[in-house]
Amino acid sequence: MRVVIIGTGIAGVSFAEKYRALSTDADITLVTRENDGYYSRPLLSRGFSKDGIEQSIILKTFDKLRAGGISVINGTEITAINRSDKTLAINGCGQEKSLPYDRLILAQGSAAFVPPPFRADSDLFFCLNSFADLKALRKFRQAFLNANKRPHWAIIGGGLIGCEVASDLAIAGDKVTLFHAMGSLMERQLVSDDSALLLRVLQASGVQVLLNQAVKGFAKQDEKVCVKTDVIGSFDALIVACGFKPNTALAEKAGLATGRGITVNPYLQTSDDAIYALGDVAELPDGKLYAFILPIRSQAFWLAEFLVGQEKNAWIPPVFTTKAKVHGFEAVHAYHL
Ligand SMILES: Cc1cc2nc3c(=O)[nH]c(=O)nc-3n(C[C@H](O)[C@H](O)[C@H](O)COP(=O)(O)OP(=O)(O)OC[C@H]3O[C@@H](n4cnc5c(N)ncnc54)[C@H](O)[C@@H]3O)c2cc1C
Repeated sequence: MRVVIIGTGIAGVSFAEKYRALSTDADITLVTRENDGYYSRPLLSRGFSKDGIEQSIILKTFDKLRAGGISVINGTEITAINRSDKTLAINGCGQEKSLPYDRLILAQGSAAFVPPPFRADSDLFFCLNSFADLKALRKFRQAFLNANKRPHWAIIGGGLIGCEVASDLAIAGDKVTLFHAMGSLMERQLVSDDSALLLRVLQASGVQVLLNQAVKGFAKQDEKVCVKTDVIGSFDALIVACGFKPNTALAEKAGLATGRGITVNPYLQTSDDAIYALGDVAELPDGKLYAFILPIRSQAFWLAEFLVGQEKNAWIPPVFTTKAKVHGFEAVHAYHL
Protein backbone atom coordinates (compact mmCIF):
# COMPACT_ATOMS: atom_id res chain seq x y z
CA MET A 1 0.00 0.00 0.00
CA ARG A 2 1.54 3.32 -1.13
CA VAL A 3 0.24 6.14 1.02
CA VAL A 4 1.20 9.63 -0.10
CA ILE A 5 0.53 12.68 2.06
CA ILE A 6 0.72 16.25 0.75
CA GLY A 7 1.87 18.64 3.47
CA THR A 8 4.16 18.54 6.50
CA GLY A 9 2.14 20.61 8.94
CA ILE A 10 0.62 19.06 12.05
CA ALA A 11 -2.04 17.28 9.98
CA GLY A 12 0.35 15.52 7.58
CA VAL A 13 3.09 14.71 10.09
CA SER A 14 0.78 13.53 12.90
CA PHE A 15 -1.06 11.27 10.45
CA ALA A 16 2.17 9.88 8.94
CA GLU A 17 3.70 9.07 12.33
CA LYS A 18 0.57 7.44 13.69
CA TYR A 19 0.03 5.43 10.50
CA ARG A 20 3.70 4.33 10.57
CA ALA A 21 3.21 3.13 14.15
CA LEU A 22 0.08 1.15 13.23
CA SER A 23 1.12 -0.29 9.86
CA THR A 24 4.56 -1.84 9.55
CA ASP A 25 4.35 -2.70 5.85
CA ALA A 26 2.87 0.47 4.31
CA ASP A 27 5.05 2.64 2.09
CA ILE A 28 4.51 6.17 3.49
CA THR A 29 5.68 9.32 1.71
CA LEU A 30 5.29 12.93 2.81
CA VAL A 31 5.63 15.52 0.04
CA THR A 32 6.12 19.15 0.93
CA ARG A 33 7.30 22.43 -0.45
CA GLU A 34 8.97 23.16 2.92
CA ASN A 35 12.73 22.78 3.45
CA ASP A 36 13.16 23.69 7.12
CA GLY A 37 11.48 20.68 8.73
CA TYR A 38 8.18 20.29 10.57
CA TYR A 39 7.60 23.51 12.52
CA SER A 40 5.07 24.94 14.98
CA ARG A 41 2.74 27.37 13.21
CA PRO A 42 1.31 28.76 16.48
CA LEU A 43 4.83 29.90 17.45
CA LEU A 44 4.96 32.16 14.36
CA SER A 45 3.13 34.83 16.30
CA ARG A 46 5.86 34.78 18.97
CA GLY A 47 8.47 35.22 16.27
CA PHE A 48 9.78 38.64 17.32
CA SER A 49 9.98 38.61 21.11
CA LYS A 50 11.37 35.11 21.58
CA ASP A 51 15.13 34.47 21.45
CA GLY A 52 16.32 31.62 19.24
CA ILE A 53 12.91 31.26 17.58
CA GLU A 54 14.40 30.14 14.24
CA GLN A 55 15.70 27.01 15.99
CA SER A 56 13.02 26.40 18.64
CA ILE A 57 10.16 26.63 16.13
CA ILE A 58 11.38 23.41 14.42
CA LEU A 59 9.59 20.51 16.08
CA LYS A 60 11.20 17.78 13.98
CA THR A 61 13.73 17.72 11.17
CA PHE A 62 12.89 15.86 7.99
CA ASP A 63 15.86 13.54 8.64
CA LYS A 64 14.32 12.56 11.97
CA LEU A 65 11.06 11.66 10.19
CA ARG A 66 13.06 9.64 7.64
CA ALA A 67 14.84 7.83 10.48
CA GLY A 68 11.36 6.88 11.73
CA GLY A 69 10.60 5.06 8.47
CA ILE A 70 8.72 7.81 6.60
CA SER A 71 9.99 9.02 3.20
CA VAL A 72 10.04 12.79 2.89
CA ILE A 73 10.28 14.57 -0.46
CA ASN A 74 10.89 18.18 0.49
CA GLY A 75 11.34 21.41 -1.47
CA THR A 76 8.79 20.03 -3.89
CA GLU A 77 5.47 21.31 -5.18
CA ILE A 78 2.62 18.98 -6.11
CA THR A 79 1.21 20.57 -9.24
CA ALA A 80 -1.58 18.13 -10.16
CA ILE A 81 -3.53 15.11 -8.90
CA ASN A 82 -4.23 12.69 -11.78
CA ARG A 83 -7.07 10.61 -10.39
CA SER A 84 -7.50 8.39 -13.44
CA ASP A 85 -4.06 6.72 -13.05
CA LYS A 86 -3.56 7.62 -9.36
CA THR A 87 -0.43 9.69 -9.80
CA LEU A 88 0.74 13.08 -8.63
CA ALA A 89 2.66 15.52 -10.81
CA ILE A 90 5.53 16.83 -8.70
CA ASN A 91 7.94 19.64 -9.40
CA GLY A 92 11.24 19.60 -7.50
CA CYS A 93 14.38 21.51 -8.50
CA GLY A 94 12.59 22.57 -11.71
CA GLN A 95 12.01 18.94 -12.79
CA GLU A 96 8.55 17.45 -13.39
CA LYS A 97 8.12 13.88 -12.13
CA SER A 98 5.25 11.54 -11.43
CA LEU A 99 4.56 9.87 -8.08
CA PRO A 100 2.08 6.97 -7.80
CA TYR A 101 -0.29 6.50 -4.83
CA ASP A 102 -2.84 3.94 -3.69
CA ARG A 103 -4.19 6.25 -1.03
CA LEU A 104 -3.74 10.01 -1.04
CA ILE A 105 -4.01 12.21 2.05
CA LEU A 106 -4.53 15.92 1.42
CA ALA A 107 -3.06 17.96 4.28
CA GLN A 108 -2.09 21.14 2.40
CA GLY A 109 -3.31 23.52 5.07
CA SER A 110 -4.20 27.09 4.35
CA ALA A 111 -2.76 30.36 3.07
CA ALA A 112 -3.28 33.87 4.40
CA PHE A 113 -6.50 35.35 3.06
CA VAL A 114 -5.81 38.59 1.23
CA PRO A 115 -8.93 40.69 0.51
CA PRO A 116 -9.40 41.34 -3.24
CA PRO A 117 -8.70 45.13 -3.13
CA PHE A 118 -5.21 44.46 -1.67
CA ARG A 119 -4.11 41.75 -4.12
CA ALA A 120 -2.67 44.02 -6.81
CA ASP A 121 -0.33 45.54 -4.20
CA SER A 122 1.12 42.28 -2.89
CA ASP A 123 4.65 43.71 -3.08
CA LEU A 124 3.68 46.37 -0.50
CA PHE A 125 2.80 44.09 2.43
CA PHE A 126 3.78 40.98 4.35
CA CYS A 127 1.62 38.15 5.71
CA LEU A 128 2.47 35.82 8.59
CA ASN A 129 1.33 32.34 7.69
CA SER A 130 4.48 30.25 7.24
CA PHE A 131 8.03 29.99 8.53
CA ALA A 132 9.19 31.52 5.21
CA ASP A 133 6.96 34.56 5.96
CA LEU A 134 8.45 34.86 9.46
CA LYS A 135 12.01 34.72 8.12
CA ALA A 136 11.21 37.48 5.58
CA LEU A 137 9.70 39.66 8.32
CA ARG A 138 12.61 39.07 10.69
CA LYS A 139 15.12 39.93 7.95
CA PHE A 140 13.29 43.20 7.18
CA ARG A 141 13.18 44.06 10.89
CA GLN A 142 16.84 43.16 11.45
CA ALA A 143 17.92 45.74 8.82
CA PHE A 144 16.26 48.43 10.99
CA LEU A 145 17.82 47.10 14.20
CA ASN A 146 21.26 47.03 12.54
CA ALA A 147 20.81 50.75 11.78
CA ASN A 148 19.78 51.38 15.43
CA LYS A 149 16.20 52.09 14.33
CA ARG A 150 12.82 50.53 15.16
CA PRO A 151 10.29 49.98 12.37
CA HIS A 152 6.75 51.36 12.61
CA TRP A 153 4.36 48.58 11.55
CA ALA A 154 0.75 48.77 10.41
CA ILE A 155 -1.17 45.56 11.07
CA ILE A 156 -4.35 45.22 9.00
CA GLY A 157 -6.87 43.06 10.86
CA GLY A 158 -7.81 42.80 14.53
CA GLY A 159 -8.64 39.10 14.57
CA LEU A 160 -6.67 36.43 16.42
CA ILE A 161 -3.47 36.59 14.37
CA GLY A 162 -3.47 40.39 13.92
CA CYS A 163 -3.79 40.92 17.69
CA GLU A 164 -1.11 38.32 18.47
CA VAL A 165 1.40 39.79 16.01
CA ALA A 166 0.70 43.38 17.09
CA SER A 167 1.27 42.35 20.71
CA ASP A 168 4.50 40.48 19.97
CA LEU A 169 6.02 43.30 17.89
CA ALA A 170 5.13 45.86 20.58
CA ILE A 171 6.65 43.68 23.31
CA ALA A 172 9.76 43.32 21.15
CA GLY A 173 10.03 47.14 21.21
CA ASP A 174 8.62 48.22 17.83
CA LYS A 175 6.00 50.86 17.09
CA VAL A 176 2.69 49.26 16.04
CA THR A 177 -0.61 50.59 14.68
CA LEU A 178 -3.43 48.09 14.36
CA PHE A 179 -6.30 48.78 11.92
CA HIS A 180 -9.52 46.83 12.40
CA ALA A 181 -12.65 47.13 10.26
CA MET A 182 -15.06 46.41 13.12
CA GLY A 183 -15.90 48.28 16.33
CA SER A 184 -14.25 45.71 18.64
CA LEU A 185 -11.26 43.36 18.45
CA MET A 186 -11.70 39.61 17.84
CA GLU A 187 -15.45 40.25 17.81
CA ARG A 188 -16.18 36.80 16.38
CA GLN A 189 -14.37 34.91 19.16
CA LEU A 190 -14.73 37.10 22.27
CA VAL A 191 -17.66 38.44 24.28
CA SER A 192 -17.66 42.25 24.43
CA ASP A 193 -16.14 42.48 27.95
CA ASP A 194 -13.18 40.34 26.91
CA SER A 195 -12.81 42.29 23.68
CA ALA A 196 -12.67 45.55 25.68
CA LEU A 197 -10.08 43.97 28.00
CA LEU A 198 -8.00 42.91 24.99
CA LEU A 199 -8.11 46.49 23.67
CA ARG A 200 -6.82 47.83 26.99
CA VAL A 201 -4.05 45.22 27.20
CA LEU A 202 -2.85 46.00 23.67
CA GLN A 203 -2.98 49.76 24.28
CA ALA A 204 -1.06 49.34 27.55
CA SER A 205 1.69 47.50 25.65
CA GLY A 206 2.00 50.49 23.30
CA VAL A 207 -0.13 49.36 20.34
CA GLN A 208 -2.18 52.15 18.73
CA VAL A 209 -5.54 50.51 17.93
CA LEU A 210 -7.74 52.11 15.26
CA LEU A 211 -11.24 50.56 15.15
CA ASN A 212 -13.92 50.96 12.44
CA GLN A 213 -11.26 51.44 9.79
CA ALA A 214 -12.27 50.27 6.32
CA VAL A 215 -8.84 50.01 4.69
CA LYS A 216 -9.25 50.64 0.97
CA GLY A 217 -5.71 49.90 -0.19
CA PHE A 218 -2.07 50.83 0.08
CA ALA A 219 0.35 53.19 -1.66
CA LYS A 220 4.10 53.50 -1.76
CA GLN A 221 5.54 56.88 -0.72
CA ASP A 222 9.37 57.09 -0.92
CA GLU A 223 10.64 54.59 1.67
CA LYS A 224 7.24 54.40 3.45
CA VAL A 225 3.96 52.63 2.75
CA CYS A 226 0.62 54.40 3.26
CA VAL A 227 -2.62 52.81 4.39
CA LYS A 228 -5.64 54.37 2.68
CA THR A 229 -8.35 54.93 5.33
CA ASP A 230 -9.95 57.90 7.08
CA VAL A 231 -6.76 58.17 9.15
CA ILE A 232 -3.67 59.48 7.39
CA GLY A 233 -0.59 57.49 8.21
CA SER A 234 2.56 56.11 6.68
CA PHE A 235 4.51 53.15 7.95
CA ASP A 236 7.77 51.31 7.41
CA ALA A 237 5.92 48.05 6.71
CA LEU A 238 2.46 46.50 6.61
CA ILE A 239 1.26 43.07 7.68
CA VAL A 240 -2.10 41.91 6.32
CA ALA A 241 -3.77 39.56 8.85
CA CYS A 242 -7.30 39.16 7.51
CA GLY A 243 -7.87 35.44 8.13
CA PHE A 244 -6.98 32.29 6.21
CA LYS A 245 -8.04 30.45 3.08
CA PRO A 246 -7.77 26.64 2.72
CA ASN A 247 -5.49 25.54 -0.12
CA THR A 248 -8.19 23.97 -2.30
CA ALA A 249 -6.78 24.78 -5.77
CA LEU A 250 -5.21 21.33 -6.40
CA ALA A 251 -8.39 19.53 -5.35
CA GLU A 252 -10.57 21.82 -7.48
CA LYS A 253 -8.32 21.24 -10.51
CA ALA A 254 -8.64 17.47 -9.94
CA GLY A 255 -12.45 17.74 -9.89
CA LEU A 256 -12.91 16.93 -6.18
CA ALA A 257 -15.90 18.48 -4.43
CA THR A 258 -14.96 21.69 -2.60
CA GLY A 259 -16.73 24.40 -0.67
CA ARG A 260 -14.81 26.69 1.68
CA GLY A 261 -12.41 23.76 2.05
CA ILE A 262 -12.16 20.31 0.46
CA THR A 263 -15.50 18.66 1.17
CA VAL A 264 -15.19 15.47 3.24
CA ASN A 265 -17.72 13.04 4.70
CA PRO A 266 -17.70 12.13 8.43
CA TYR A 267 -14.89 9.63 7.61
CA LEU A 268 -12.70 12.46 6.22
CA GLN A 269 -13.09 10.95 2.76
CA THR A 270 -13.32 13.31 -0.21
CA SER A 271 -15.60 12.76 -3.22
CA ASP A 272 -12.92 10.28 -4.49
CA ASP A 273 -12.81 7.21 -2.24
CA ALA A 274 -9.00 6.86 -2.56
CA ILE A 275 -8.45 10.41 -1.30
CA TYR A 276 -8.87 11.79 2.24
CA ALA A 277 -8.41 15.32 3.59
CA LEU A 278 -7.74 16.68 7.07
CA GLY A 279 -6.49 19.77 8.88
CA ASP A 280 -7.07 23.37 7.78
CA VAL A 281 -7.90 22.25 4.24
CA ALA A 282 -10.83 19.95 5.15
CA GLU A 283 -14.46 21.08 5.38
CA LEU A 284 -16.61 18.72 7.47
CA PRO A 285 -20.29 17.96 6.73
CA ASP A 286 -21.29 20.49 9.45
CA GLY A 287 -19.72 23.13 7.17
CA LYS A 288 -16.90 23.74 9.67
CA LEU A 289 -13.15 23.98 9.19
CA TYR A 290 -11.42 22.71 12.34
CA ALA A 291 -8.38 24.97 11.95
CA PHE A 292 -6.84 24.46 15.40
CA ILE A 293 -4.08 22.19 16.67
CA LEU A 294 -6.15 20.03 19.00
CA PRO A 295 -8.91 18.92 16.58
CA ILE A 296 -6.37 18.48 13.76
CA ARG A 297 -4.24 16.12 15.84
CA SER A 298 -7.44 14.25 16.73
CA GLN A 299 -8.36 13.95 13.02
CA ALA A 300 -4.86 12.67 12.17
CA PHE A 301 -4.87 9.95 14.83
CA TRP A 302 -8.48 9.00 14.07
CA LEU A 303 -7.77 8.70 10.32
CA ALA A 304 -4.72 6.48 10.84
CA GLU A 305 -6.73 4.17 13.10
CA PHE A 306 -9.66 4.17 10.66
CA LEU A 307 -7.48 3.26 7.69
CA VAL A 308 -5.92 0.27 9.47
CA GLY A 309 -9.37 -0.90 10.59
CA GLN A 310 -8.98 -0.14 14.32
CA GLU A 311 -11.67 2.57 14.24
CA LYS A 312 -15.12 2.03 12.77
CA ASN A 313 -17.07 5.08 13.96
CA ALA A 314 -16.99 8.44 12.22
CA TRP A 315 -14.67 11.22 13.48
CA ILE A 316 -16.25 13.26 16.25
CA PRO A 317 -14.74 16.69 16.98
CA PRO A 318 -13.21 16.79 20.49
CA VAL A 319 -14.18 19.49 22.95
CA PHE A 320 -11.52 22.15 22.60
CA THR A 321 -10.84 25.80 23.21
CA THR A 322 -8.10 28.23 22.21
CA LYS A 323 -6.28 31.16 23.73
CA ALA A 324 -5.13 34.36 22.04
CA LYS A 325 -1.36 34.55 22.56
CA VAL A 326 -1.47 38.25 23.35
CA HIS A 327 1.07 39.11 26.04
CA GLY A 328 -0.70 39.82 29.34
CA PHE A 329 -4.22 38.93 28.12
CA GLU A 330 -6.44 36.23 29.63
CA ALA A 331 -10.05 36.09 28.48
CA VAL A 332 -12.53 35.71 31.35
CA HIS A 333 -15.20 33.95 29.25
CA ALA A 334 -14.99 31.03 26.81
CA TYR A 335 -14.09 31.79 23.18
CA HIS A 336 -16.68 31.26 20.40
CA LEU A 337 -15.08 28.85 17.91
C1 LIG B 1 0.35 32.80 13.15
C2 LIG B 1 -0.53 31.62 13.51
C3 LIG B 1 -0.79 31.34 14.85
C4 LIG B 1 -1.61 30.27 15.21
N1 LIG B 1 -1.84 30.01 16.54
C5 LIG B 1 -2.58 28.93 16.89
C6 LIG B 1 -2.77 28.59 18.27
O1 LIG B 1 -2.28 29.27 19.18
N2 LIG B 1 -3.53 27.48 18.55
C7 LIG B 1 -4.09 26.70 17.58
O2 LIG B 1 -4.76 25.70 17.90
N3 LIG B 1 -3.93 27.01 16.27
C8 LIG B 1 -3.19 28.09 15.90
N4 LIG B 1 -3.02 28.40 14.58
C9 LIG B 1 -3.66 27.55 13.57
C10 LIG B 1 -2.85 26.26 13.36
O3 LIG B 1 -1.49 26.57 13.34
C11 LIG B 1 -3.30 25.59 12.07
O4 LIG B 1 -4.66 25.26 12.19
C12 LIG B 1 -2.50 24.33 11.78
O5 LIG B 1 -1.11 24.55 11.89
C13 LIG B 1 -2.83 23.80 10.38
O6 LIG B 1 -2.11 22.64 10.16
P1 LIG B 1 -2.18 21.85 8.77
O7 LIG B 1 -1.23 20.71 8.90
O8 LIG B 1 -3.60 21.58 8.41
O9 LIG B 1 -1.65 22.89 7.68
P2 LIG B 1 -0.26 23.63 7.50
O10 LIG B 1 0.45 23.78 8.77
O11 LIG B 1 -0.59 24.86 6.71
O12 LIG B 1 0.60 22.65 6.60
C14 LIG B 1 0.33 22.49 5.23
C15 LIG B 1 1.58 22.02 4.54
O13 LIG B 1 1.29 21.69 3.18
C16 LIG B 1 2.31 22.15 2.33
N5 LIG B 1 1.74 22.30 0.99
C17 LIG B 1 0.60 22.96 0.64
N6 LIG B 1 0.37 22.84 -0.69
C18 LIG B 1 1.37 22.08 -1.19
C19 LIG B 1 1.70 21.60 -2.49
N7 LIG B 1 0.92 21.87 -3.56
N8 LIG B 1 2.81 20.86 -2.67
C20 LIG B 1 3.61 20.57 -1.60
N9 LIG B 1 3.35 21.00 -0.34
C21 LIG B 1 2.25 21.73 -0.13
C22 LIG B 1 2.73 23.46 3.01
O14 LIG B 1 4.00 23.86 2.59
C23 LIG B 1 2.70 23.03 4.48
O15 LIG B 1 3.87 22.36 4.85
C24 LIG B 1 -2.20 29.47 14.19
C25 LIG B 1 -1.93 29.74 12.83
C26 LIG B 1 -1.10 30.80 12.49
C27 LIG B 1 -0.82 31.08 11.03
